[in-house]
Amino acid sequence: MTAEGKIEPVDPVALAAELIRCPSVTPADAGAIDVLVRALERMGFACSKLEFAEPGTEPVLNLYARLGKAGRNFCYAGHTDVVPVGRRESWTVDPFGGEIIDGTLYGRGASDMKGGIAAFVAGVARFLAARGGALEGSISLLITGDEEGVSINGTKKVLEWLAAKGERLDACVVGEPTSAKRLGDMVKIGRRGSMTGTLVVKGVQGHTAYPHLAENPIHHLVRMLHALTREPLDQGSDHFQPSTLQVTTVDVGNPASNVIPAEARAVFNVRFNDRWSSESLDRWARERIGEAGGSWDLKWNVSGESFLTPPALVSELLSRAIRQATGLTPELSTTGGTSDARFIVRHCPVAEFGLVGLTMHKVDERVPVADLGMLAEIYRGVLDLYFPTA
Ligand SMILES: [Zn+2]
Repeated sequence: MTAEGKIEPVDPVALAAELIRCPSVTPADAGAIDVLVRALERMGFACSKLEFAEPGTEPVLNLYARLGKAGRNFCYAGHTDVVPVGRRESWTVDPFGGEIIDGTLYGRGASDMKGGIAAFVAGVARFLAARGGALEGSISLLITGDEEGVSINGTKKVLEWLAAKGERLDACVVGEPTSAKRLGDMVKIGRRGSMTGTLVVKGVQGHTAYPHLAENPIHHLVRMLHALTREPLDQGSDHFQPSTLQVTTVDVGNPASNVIPAEARAVFNVRFNDRWSSESLDRWARERIGEAGGSWDLKWNVSGESFLTPPALVSELLSRAIRQATGLTPELSTTGGTSDARFIVRHCPVAEFGLVGLTMHKVDERVPVADLGMLAEIYRGVLDLYFPTA
């Protein structure tokens, strides 16, 4: 808000380009948070920059910004960090140039998800301008620099910080690029869980000509992997695809053809729906592996449990705003990888919606300039629906 109380419009394309020009590859910030702080403070947001660093990890800069002190708090969550560019020579543009060519904005983060954040800031400016700057309630942004990495110094920590201050979120949109082919065709209302198992089988080393004096761990491992993969985990559920288990590597590292090795290991990744939890999968896997006999050890790394926010409040608001702006009725989906919504769902109703994700994490990541304006309009519509005028 300016001194006269007039809300200046925010150009989502210029703001997205400015963010792209900060090479904020996790965990670097490279000035990205400050670009947002400047844009938000101009509208009257109170900004808290929060740096967190678990022992042994690099510090990460996060931002919590809030406009308004009372009433229901509508939160937009996202991340300013980006994945590495990969092979620089494969890009046809500077990945951190923020160039616009033929109506398309290029650069790492254009789609995932600096473009989305810029569109939300522009949407807030449009919403406030239409209301003469008046807001019955609060709008907040929870922005992290640690989503694409290990995600331990980011959203999770900010949520703990908010809870310790007694600050609540009442509804949240996570602005990940959820649209599949056209802006507005898909909203995410949950995600599958993901966990990775490492199975180590111990045997007894020996000569292949004297197998009775040895115990072959590979033979055990083959039976174990068969037990894990011989039938589907389930047939899916109301809002989810079937759960899947994929073996990603089998390692023995034995260069000798006349030696039975002492150890064999395999790694497998499970993407699971709401019929399972990491605990029930652990029990199931141990039972199956145990059938095969042999001496073994199984360790899990759980990236996230599955979650579902039943089609209600937030996804309903998003669907209505999307229909108003684009004429499309979005599919409510639970496909794709994990996101920070898995932390937020424990605090308030949440759904995810943003740009088309076709080029995310790819070479020449890009977004049509027109989509940024349209997304700003959709986000403005969500705010309009969430804060109805009396
Ligand atoms: Zn993302």
